[in-house]
Amino acid sequence: RSFVQLAGVGHRYDPNPDIPPAITGINLDIRRHEFVAVVGPSGCGKSTLLRMIAGLLKPSEGSVSVFGKEVDGPRDDVGIVFQKPTLLPWLTVRKNVLFPLKHKYGRYGREDEKRADELLAMAGLETFANKMPDELSGGMQQRVGIVRALLLNPDILLMDEPFSALDAMTREQIGFDLLKIWQENPKTVLFITHSISEAVLLADRVLVMSKRPGTVLEMVSVDLPRP
Ligand code: ADP
Ligand code: ADP
Repeated sequence: RSFVQLAGVGHRYDPNPDIPPAITGINLDIRRHEFVAVVGPSGCGKSTLLRMIAGLLKPSEGSVSVFGKEVDGPRDDVGIVFQKPTLLPWLTVRKNVLFPLKHKYGRYGREDEKRADELLAMAGLETFANKMPDELSGGMQQRVGIVRALLLNPDILLMDEPFSALDAMTREQIGFDLLKIWQENPKTVLFITHSISEAVLLADRVLVMSKRPGTVLEMVSVDLPRP
């Protein structure tokens, strides 16, 4: 049974029929706990694809469903991590991680704090829980953003180039830390990246999107053995 299913999905930003759609004719099934990476050149439609799965953008053709139900808006069981960490500078790391709970329920308890600390520890940030975001490096802040998205325990995690602002060494370290988190905390993941090596390191399957003038898109899928 598919967790995420796209059938003939496309999106056009411009109603002018002379301008090709951003993406068109995408069929994709993502299984439970599958980690799928999407690579491809700038402008091939990766973010558009992710935003349709996230319910932030309505497809102009085809249908997107999550858990067998057509997507009609953002939902709590789908977490999103964007390119920039967007931590709140006036809250400690732990409070940033707990912020979505506070936002959603108006409060959080001891158990939530414990879980936040556990997730921070998994991300190698146990000694930073009481620090302010500007005391952390960019890579650490980005990890806090991922931990924050995991705290609500979403069934699906969508990440749009979460590491693109980081240098190669930091990216690699975060890659390994993420693998650890995933081994203990498996999720269904769609991960957009510019980096083939990052995709191969992290994913079970890599989708390669390419842009050909006129035809818009071709998608190739490569299954990887797990290390
Ligand atoms: P990628 O994430 O692979 O870089 P995008 O999904 O951002 O690609 O963009 C796919 C295409 O859609 C590009 O040609 C881009 O210029 C266009 N596009 C993206 N967002 C918008 C928008 N808000 N309005 C109009 N065109 C857009
Ligand atoms: P609601 O509309 O019910 O308040 P949100 O829109 O805050 O829900 O959250 C929707 C999803 O986005 C959640 O699954 C959550 O994990 C994720 N999310 C919310 N805020 C953030 C954030 N600041 N950073 C990363 N993910 C977030």
